[in-house]
Amino acid sequence: MSNQTPHRYLIALGSNRRKLGMVTPQRVIQGCLQALARDFPLDAISPVRPSDPLGPSRRRYANAAAILTTPLDPPRLLAELKAMERQFGRRRGQRWGERVLDLDIILWSGGTYHSKHLTIPHISFRARAFVLKPAAQIAPAWRDPVTNRTLRQLASRFLHPKPLDPEPHPF
Ligand code: AMP
Repeated sequence: MSNQTPHRYLIALGSNRRKLGMVTPQRVIQGCLQALARDFPLDAISPVRPSDPLGPSRRRYANAAAILTTPLDPPRLLAELKAMERQFGRRRGQRWGERVLDLDIILWSGGTYHSKHLTIPHISFRARAFVLKPAAQIAPAWRDPVTNRTLRQLASRFLHPKPLDPEPHPF
């Protein structure tokens, strides 16, 4: 039993493959949320959203966000999440390849964190509607320590784009 102070983390989940046999990206995300809930107390889980149709084939992916609590520091949590990504890439002996599941640490209760392999807040999250929309659903008042804007404020740019803004690109 650890007596370390627990940290809160906002995690973004994405499944970036169109369909894996009979398994849809939504099912991959739901399975990952169940696996996360077995390992960590989850304070909040967003609905699983299909991404906006993308590209000529109008393919859809799926995304969600979750808030978890753990005494693990950021590098240790990242190692756990990477292990989960690898596990999902090899499910039931099928070789789905890399990037079936993408797990990113978006924010944590410790403010900013930077090392060679890990930057929190996630470096690209402010430009990604597919991260901000589910994140703002579960933690609208959580403030990005770099811009001091709440997730609601950051996400609102994608909900009400100004007419002269360039089209936000999801990647
Ligand atoms: P990607 O496969 O594009 O998600 O990139 C994975 C790599 O990005 C990881 O192996 C990490 O070393 C690095 N990384 C840096 N910051 C973060 C973050 N906040 N969350 C997850 N991965 C990160």
